[in-house]
Amino acid sequence: MNQPPIRPRDDIALMPGYHSPQVEVDVRLNTNEAPFAPPQAWLDAVADAAASVAWNRYPDRAALDLRRAIAKLHGVGAEQVFAANGSNEVLQTLSLTYGGAGRTVAVFEPTYALHSHIARITGTGVAVGQRAPDFSLDMGEVRRVLVEAEPDVTYLCSPNNPTGLVETPESVHQVLGLAPGLVVVDEAYGQFAPWSALELVAEDRPLVVTRTYSKTWSMAAARLGYLVGPAWLVAELEKVVLPYHLDAFKQVAGRLALDHQADMDARVAGLVEERGRLSAALAELDVELWPSGANFVLFRPGSVDGGEVWQGLLDRSVLVRNCSGWPRLEGCLRVTIGTTEEDDRFLAALKEVLT
Ligand code: PMP
Repeated sequence: MNQPPIRPRDDIALMPGYHSPQVEVDVRLNTNEAPFAPPQAWLDAVADAAASVAWNRYPDRAALDLRRAIAKLHGVGAEQVFAANGSNEVLQTLSLTYGGAGRTVAVFEPTYALHSHIARITGTGVAVGQRAPDFSLDMGEVRRVLVEAEPDVTYLCSPNNPTGLVETPESVHQVLGLAPGLVVVDEAYGQFAPWSALELVAEDRPLVVTRTYSKTWSMAAARLGYLVGPAWLVAELEKVVLPYHLDAFKQVAGRLALDHQADMDARVAGLVEERGRLSAALAELDVELWPSGANFVLFRPGSVDGGEVWQGLLDRSVLVRNCSGWPRLEGCLRVTIGTTEEDDRFLAALKEVLT
């Protein structure tokens, strides 16, 4: 291609971008979505609600009804909830508000790639610490990074993507004690884990916990996420996010979803059980496996190269996430917990590829 007539910012021109291939396959286990559609009762309620949206008007800019409903779910005030288009937009708004030129975030690898990617896009420096060999937080390393870099934002991810590891309450407390700035606990998979940092959110603590509708609520298509944090912090984010960023239909859809809490809890329990079944079956094979508190499992095939296994699965119309080229995850693949049928297809394909 000819040289384009204009160039973006130099750092952006050099960026590789964020890629997660979307390929047409029978069994899609690569992006940690819920394997089922949302409850029919919710679909019906949303269809009815579409007719009563005032489509000619801008939506409620503060998304108050939605934030009130989320706040009720977590036993906090609506002023402690910030909602946006997926938790990625929540993270971006945090980075725009508390990061930026001359500021730094800290991440502990391997972890969710978007934390550092969004930081860089927003012109924020990234201080990288390494996790321990078992991928837990190494507190000596955490202390070193936080003392040296004095980050404005420190990211934790619990359960961590792509390792599945749940941070302990003790390590989150320790990080809170050490971090000089804001601590973000990304709980995109929080509902699958045995504890949540939501219980630590308080007005006098610079901590936010981010959540998403994309996984548990079977609403990845809707793009809706939120954080719970101090009201003074939410007020700053509201200054930064674009006016009317959350469309009226999404606000209603997100509010109505919360009427189906029991249904969603049952689905989570089912997926946690299925995670146990899939993990046990994987443990029987020639793979290294990490314990997961999320709706996915990270594993490393023993004698066959990870990239080859990924391709072999794809040849059998099963798509998993190829992490084999990521630092510290050489040869690793990540599989989302699907339905029993999908997971059986995956296991059968994997057995074939490994032999
Ligand atoms: N955080 C983590 C750890 C994730 O894995 C994801 C989804 N891949 C997100 C945030 C973003 O989720 P969404 O934007 O769909 O809410």
